[in-house]
Amino acid sequence: MFTPVTIETCITFHGHVCGGISLGYVLANYAMDKLGAQRGDDLYARMECQNCLVDGVQCVTGCTTGKRNLEIIPGGPMALTLVRRDTGKGVRAVISVDMPHGLSKEEAKNHILSLDPAAICTFEEATLELPN
Ligand SMILES: [Zn+2]
Repeated sequence: MFTPVTIETCITFHGHVCGGISLGYVLANYAMDKLGAQRGDDLYARMECQNCLVDGVQCVTGCTTGKRNLEIIPGGPMALTLVRRDTGKGVRAVISVDMPHGLSKEEAKNHILSLDPAAICTFEEATLELPN
């Protein structure tokens, strides 16, 4: 049984406070919630961007590049597809707002965490071709 990670854990792992780690934290928790998944489940993740968000996703979902259950396709939207390896069921969640501008990194974090995740994320059912 794994305990859900906090934003502080994500920030410690990531190495600095920023909007991106906060968006990754929110996006990953949103996708886990929509999938009915918890940390420790056998999951596979695909990120469509390669930036600070990825570290929040690694912390929250437990899918990591080291375990090879996280795939990163740089250059796309702030999107996470999260799939259960046993059933193949998954969701693709997308951050639907721009990164906040004109705020300090701490303010950006606080702003993002104050928002309703459903107001800044969208999702749809999805699946992935999973590697063996
Ligand atoms: Zn960052």
